[in-house]
Amino acid sequence: MSIKIFLDGQLVDKEDAKVSVFDHGFLYGDGIFEGIRYYNGKIFREKQHIDRLWDSAKTVNIEIPMTKQEVVKAINDTVKANGFTDAYIRLIVSRGEGNLGIDPRSCKRPSVIVIAQALSLYPAEFYEKGIKIVTASTIRNPSDSLSPRVKSLNYLNNIMAKIEAHVAGCEEALMLNHKGDVCECTGDNIFIIRNGKLLTPPIDACILEGVTRNVVIEICKELGLECAEAAFTRHDVYTADECFLTGSAAELIPVVAVDGRAIGDGKPGKITNQILAAFADFVRRDNSRIE
Ligand code: PMP
Repeated sequence: MSIKIFLDGQLVDKEDAKVSVFDHGFLYGDGIFEGIRYYNGKIFREKQHIDRLWDSAKTVNIEIPMTKQEVVKAINDTVKANGFTDAYIRLIVSRGEGNLGIDPRSCKRPSVIVIAQALSLYPAEFYEKGIKIVTASTIRNPSDSLSPRVKSLNYLNNIMAKIEAHVAGCEEALMLNHKGDVCECTGDNIFIIRNGKLLTPPIDACILEGVTRNVVIEICKELGLECAEAAFTRHDVYTADECFLTGSAAELIPVVAVDGRAIGDGKPGKITNQILAAFADFVRRDNSRIE
């Protein structure tokens, strides 16, 4: 049976889920998206993802041709049509079909697409042993050129850094911002821990405000752990006791080496594992819904 894709108001077979080569999402990366987890038959952090999509749309001046409720229904319908209770969801809004020039006014109607996939998780070994990362020479887009807060279809900035990671034999790369401060990884936010205190770059460090990042900040409050959002440098990363990454796809993944320097004792840390366990519990009780 072919998987079903939601495409502009209809559930269609994957083979029929086609967009035009004149779609500005294809021609220019002109569009926005969300990567969402579906756990136990429910959208995880529904409100946060839908609100972020609407915020991205506002900044790039796309009018989503559906209500928030309709988009949520489209996600639920797509997941159910494919018989999933757990899934990874890609929600895409492209500028739509237009002329060859970049002028967005030639695009008459944005396209809304929902793809639901079976979870393809990182190997269990990554979570048990942690991953090694390197710093990319590609710096993160500065906010005043293309705000990383917009989850745009143009991911070349991140892809350039990801290639650097692969060349170095790593899965992920650490990206710095134009000031030289630690920013985030190519598809994940970063946390470091020193002396029991967590630290993650602030929103104005040119990061995507990750939904998982914000969950971890909430979890820290619940666990009584101190967690600051403040600028820091690679020196702080190298000298941290623990480090981990967060993202919808990866959830929480321990980092055990950065640029060839072992973090702490080179094994996933105790607090990281404590937060990982608390995250699994948080997922079960999440009931964030749009109004
Ligand atoms: N930063 C970047 C650049 C990302 O693409 C992502 C999502 N893949 C994240 C951080 C993590 O965000 P979230 O927790 O909302 O998935």
